[in-house]
Amino acid sequence: MSLLINDECIACDACRDDCPTDAIDEGDPIYIIDPDLCTECVSVYDEPACIAVCPIDCIVPDKDNVESIAELKFKHEQILANADK
Ligand code: SF4
Ligand code: SF4
Repeated sequence: MSLLINDECIACDACRDDCPTDAIDEGDPIYIIDPDLCTECVSVYDEPACIAVCPIDCIVPDKDNVESIAELKFKHEQILANADK
């Protein structure tokens, strides 16, 4: 499942550089997560890196983008493969 940044985001920029798949972008007025790139950090970290660093806990599961661990692992492999091109 992709994660979602809710409207409590204070745009502090703590999360963006910690995302291993560059899924987080600065939006206006809040930061946004690209559901096509968010892998919940599966295959990289034990927990979502963005949630670990967010000072106000505004990053939550995106119930419109539910994926299994297997799907997230496959998505991560695809992202790596595309990055190599
Ligand atoms: Fe990026 Fe991981 Fe957060 Fe998804 S859970 S946005 S992959 S840091
Ligand atoms: Fe927004 Fe949290 Fe990311 Fe800061 S760490 S930009 S508050 S989502």
